Amino acid sequence: MTGVTQERLLLTELPGPASQALAARRRAAVSSAVSVGNELYIDHGDGAILVDVDGNHLIDFGSGIAVASVGHAAPPVVAAVAEQAAKFAHTCFMVTPYPGYVELCEQLALLTPGSHEKRSALFNSGAEAVENAIKVARAYTGRQAVIAFDHAYHGRTNLTMALTAKVQPYKDGFGPFAPEVYRMGMAYPYRWPTGPEHCAEEAFADFVAKAHVQVGEEHVAAVIVEPIQGEGGFIVPAPGFLKMVADWCTENGVVFIADEVQTGFCRTGSWFASEHEGIVPDLVTTAKALAGGLPLAALTGRAEIMDAPVVGGLGGTFGGNPISCAAALAAIQLMKDADLAGAARRIGDRIGARLGELAQAHPQIGEVRGRGAMMAVEIVRPDGSRTPDAALAKAVIAGCVRRGLVVLGCGTYGNVLRFLPPLVMPDALLDDALDILAESFAEATA
Ligand SMILES: *Cc1c(COP(=O)(O)O)cnc(C)c1O
Repeated sequence: MTGVTQERLLLTELPGPASQALAARRRAAVSSAVSVGNELYIDHGDGAILVDVDGNHLIDFGSGIAVASVGHAAPPVVAAVAEQAAKFAHTCFMVTPYPGYVELCEQLALLTPGSHEKRSALFNSGAEAVENAIKVARAYTGRQAVIAFDHAYHGRTNLTMALTAKVQPYKDGFGPFAPEVYRMGMAYPYRWPTGPEHCAEEAFADFVAKAHVQVGEEHVAAVIVEPIQGEGGFIVPAPGFLKMVADWCTENGVVFIADEVQTGFCRTGSWFASEHEGIVPDLVTTAKALAGGLPLAALTGRAEIMDAPVVGGLGGTFGGNPISCAAALAAIQLMKDADLAGAARRIGDRIGARLGELAQAHPQIGEVRGRGAMMAVEIVRPDGSRTPDAALAKAVIAGCVRRGLVVLGCGTYGNVLRFLPPLVMPDALLDDALDILAESFAEATA
């Protein structure tokens, strides 16, 4: 840690002068296609606090999209990175291997759901892990079709763009997309036409019928799903839906892939979100929180599936970088030692209780949902129509940012506020963040 107290502190209006100067340089030097959520430029971080270039202490309610779960500059991660960087930064595992890669794959086998024999391969990004999951499933099954869902987000590479549901901004102008990707309805309880109680059964019946008529079971290599949909709006599938889909996969020789890139590593109150639904995926993709902030991704799964591709068929120059592996091993140890899954459950209870109160006061909050420290509210018009109100969501986020709370939006309709604090956030800081949220809500709806 850099010794920063876990308190908000504002020295300037936000963004301050140093941030504003960088914003001007950004516009002149960085592609406008890489958008930024705010113009607060960060100098350093500590735990759940980000300190900007003007010296303001901001509360981090986004963790850089669910990455900084162990907190910023976590001492064991800093030490592991420094130690490995001083030894060597790269050999390429496929040229001359090193122990950290093997050790991390052993950990992944122990931590991911199921006690079957597993193998892993390491990559640089979530999208790359997803691409490789599809490659492995196709090699194993000898089939080509892949089923993904409405509201899905799996990345921005060509194949993962095809898997991603939303065109704006992820796919606009970037086609043609990879073929043999089929999209099915998601069991989205809040927006299910006949009501949440029928959602799982009806969505599954629709899935089975479409898979039979439009694809043919014998052509399906894989079904890929986020156990809680992230970018699509923190949609928790209706209970039982994922289990029915996973069982369907088993019955039809289809590889079931859980994309746990956002949900993995304690975020939802367990090591992996699949556990809440009692499902054991054939393959699991992980990235975001895996390596304490360093770029690293993994594909982990059943040994017979993971060993199916031709020898040399998987890999990459930087995949499983030794510094990232060292950071991941330190981050995982910290998650165990500090029981960050338990911390995520406590954070989720505290956020959920406060959001429940807020929803009582504001009919614009259509639903409070999520699990553990992966919570969200869906913002709608207050007339019972459930019409998404993206403008209000944006206004609330802007109010939070002005007050020194970094909050992210998401959702197919752009109307969801998502809360992803570092799992080391102290209660007092969490309460300050929730006060700011309530203030910003009151201001935006006044
Ligand atoms: C972020 C994300 C990805 C893509 O990960 P990158 O590291 O950005 O490529 C894939 N799947 C899910 C569920 C994600 O949240």
